[in-house]
Amino acid sequence: MDVAIVGAGAAAACLVDALSRQESEPGRLTVFDPSPQPWRGQPYARDLEQVRVNLPPQQMSARHGDDAHFADWLRSRPKDAARHLDPQLNQPLPPRAVYGDYLEETAEAAIGTLRGRGWQVQLIAERVTGAETRPGARVELHTAGGAKHRVDRAVLCVGAGSPRDVYRLAGTPGFVLDPYPLADTLDGIAADADVAVVGSGLTAVDVAVCLAAREHRGRITLLSRHGLLPHVQQRGFPFQPKHLSRARLLELAEQGQLTLHQLKPLFGAELAEFGEDPEQLAAEIGAAWTEHPAERLRRQLGEVGSEQRARRVLVRLVRSLGPLALGLLPERERKELQETHFRIVSSLCSPMVPVNAATLLALHDAGQLELVEGVERIEPALGGGFGIEATGRARLSADVVVNAVNATPYATPDCAEGLVRSLVEAGAAELGGTGGLGTESGSGRLVVDGRPDPRLLALGDIAGHSLFITSSIAGLVAQTPAVTEALLSGF
Ligand SMILES: Cc1cc2nc3c(=O)[nH]c(=O)nc-3n(C[C@H](O)[C@H](O)[C@H](O)COP(=O)(O)OP(=O)(O)OC[C@H]3O[C@@H](n4cnc5c(N)ncnc54)[C@H](O)[C@@H]3O)c2cc1C
Repeated sequence: MDVAIVGAGAAAACLVDALSRQESEPGRLTVFDPSPQPWRGQPYARDLEQVRVNLPPQQMSARHGDDAHFADWLRSRPKDAARHLDPQLNQPLPPRAVYGDYLEETAEAAIGTLRGRGWQVQLIAERVTGAETRPGARVELHTAGGAKHRVDRAVLCVGAGSPRDVYRLAGTPGFVLDPYPLADTLDGIAADADVAVVGSGLTAVDVAVCLAAREHRGRITLLSRHGLLPHVQQRGFPFQPKHLSRARLLELAEQGQLTLHQLKPLFGAELAEFGEDPEQLAAEIGAAWTEHPAERLRRQLGEVGSEQRARRVLVRLVRSLGPLALGLLPERERKELQETHFRIVSSLCSPMVPVNAATLLALHDAGQLELVEGVERIEPALGGGFGIEATGRARLSADVVVNAVNATPYATPDCAEGLVRSLVEAGAAELGGTGGLGTESGSGRLVVDGRPDPRLLALGDIAGHSLFITSSIAGLVAQTPAVTEALLSGF
């Protein structure tokens, strides 16, 4: 058995861990990634301390079936756990680079286990530029260095696309296209510069929080079309779905009955377990479009430990079952969810941590931070800086513009363009609506015209059937057992 993983980011680290825990005959595993910081991907690369994880440790375990895996690792580093405690959540929220250390150690330990069982494991620091996939033959991977590697199975874990340049400002002096690592990009910004941040999601929050940590004195303006900030995260509680489970979803899909209409009463039953009312939740979510963002931030900061659990139940279900459910829903419903509800689902399911919300609110209350919605145009100004036009506002200006618009979730990353193109052109893969690769729900196998190819799989941000919002560790970890099984099957 000769298997390859292309890309050594978070998905690959979780997959290697799952593989090391699976009974199997020893084989050969080759992992390709040109990154100088393997097992982290960009999100967990080394950066400023304030670039934190966005979820508590229990929701960021890299090991399926062991929610405490990351929390235990963190506990073995008490300094990190204590230093980065979010007082409201009462949870440690360490820098993402510390989480990267965890991924790296987890992957290296797994490789040690595999080698101990007789596997040959190799990490090749090269980009995979293309693949040949003749029917009935092994997959041939081509690297940037010109080497060719034949394998029985290849899993693509190449991550997501590059940040989008919505206002076509790339190359303009004072414009930062990719804000990470913030340790480098913010270094070039004067402390009294007026900074406009394009976007109002979690990356924009990272930028504002890191500017505050650097004692920035100039104005910070978050620019967005819709004016929606991420919700403020609430304290966790033990929750095991009783009605809306993976098994139930698969059962409904098998009966050809999986529709939003079918999911509604199951969700209602989950809420009823906590005495919660779906109507009240709908009203709370609807208020996101009408309530003043700063007031909503203040209110939600006061509700971190609230006894009302409906929002958290919804988020946990969307996060854990969303990728599977989305792949099984009828195309029409999937499109409707994606096109109509993308913003609100993102705001709910990618919430900001209270410690960051408190910093944002403090900046707002000090008159230093403003959220401007209805942004229509941002352009270089004569004589330097930028001019900004937003509906109902006089023209605004900024010295520096920092882009915080992430890649479209599940788009193809630049680094994997050649590889993905070669697969698509050979008819071995097809692109999903957002550019990610079409995969079979429940196995991760690449599909073309509904037919899965047992030789090619995908996991993580590139897997097109995944949820249309930014992925999470929990979402990809939930898929590792099925992908591992598909990877090892048939040998
Ligand atoms: C800014 C940010 C913050 C996030 N914070 C959190 C969080 O706090 N909690 C959470 O649960 N989730 C978070 N996420 C989401 C999630 O953890 C990531 O999206 C996750 O890293 C996805 O893993 P991946 O392996 O698919 O991609 P990545 O981790 O990006 O890894 C892809 C790897 O593939 C390599 N690669 C690409 N092309 C090739 C090629 N052709 N050949 C070889 N190698 C290649 C790249 O070098 C890279 O190392 C965050 C996401 C972002 C963008």
